Amino acid sequence: MVRMRGLSKRYGHREILRHIDLDVRAGSVMCIIGPSGSGKSTLLNCINHLERIDGGRLWVGNELVGYREHNGKLYELPERQVARMRQRVGMVFQSFNLFSHMSVLNNITEAPVRVKGVKPAEARAKAQALLERVGLGDKGAMFPAQLSGGQQQRVAIARALAMEPELMLFDEPTSALDPELVGEVLAVMKDLARSGMTMVVVTHEMGFAREVGDDLVFMDGGVVVERGHPREVLTAPREQRTRDFLSRVL
Ligand code: ATP
Ligand code: MG
Repeated sequence: MVRMRGLSKRYGHREILRHIDLDVRAGSVMCIIGPSGSGKSTLLNCINHLERIDGGRLWVGNELVGYREHNGKLYELPERQVARMRQRVGMVFQSFNLFSHMSVLNNITEAPVRVKGVKPAEARAKAQALLERVGLGDKGAMFPAQLSGGQQQRVAIARALAMEPELMLFDEPTSALDPELVGEVLAVMKDLARSGMTMVVVTHEMGFAREVGDDLVFMDGGVVVERGHPREVLTAPREQRTRDFLSRVL
């Protein structure tokens, strides 16, 4: 579903991502861990083409993200085509990013109606079903500020799902939550994984990575230091840098 080959990203002269080779199989969950500044968010942003890559290749499905290749050279795609590609990918951020002036239901129907041209009644019915799926069937008329952080994040997940993405990206979705609200968001994500969604999850929740992840990637300094089955990486890391990191966070 996602394929990266020699992916690199610079800000000015600084290399933020260096020669990343990774594959996310369709229907699998990849968790990414690593210290602050290691490039985890940048990597997600590249997958969604919120950041432009400087080297290598990146595919979502069979499509090169953001570029067209011709005779071995890459040409940037116009923004309209990039936007169409971006619709296939759902993203959930640490800070929820809901529209504060809209009801929960309208938060979820906004993009399907405006971007995809779904009929409002149909979009509302779908939004209601998604709200029920994330355990918030009675909250459609509320405004984001009236909900807890965990509820807001579940709305953000429902909103992303309303676009029927093929792939979901999560950037530390529980890091801004009070500890007692983390579980309800992880439960929704676990349910989503069970349903077969392909997911890339940047997280500090090692329990989630161990239980739900198919792959665990440890990044440091813009490179993939280690990658493997979560149980192996967490209990028997091969690299000293991974061991040092885990001893600090576990
Ligand atoms: P955290 O765990 O703190 O979220 P991260 O692993 O997600 O960290 P990134 O946000 O991807 O790290 O940042 C990687 C590096 O890129 C950092 O050194 C950061 O300072 C730098 N960086 C990120 N965005 C920009 C930008 N727009 N311009 C310049 N440098 C940037
Ligand atoms: Mg980050």
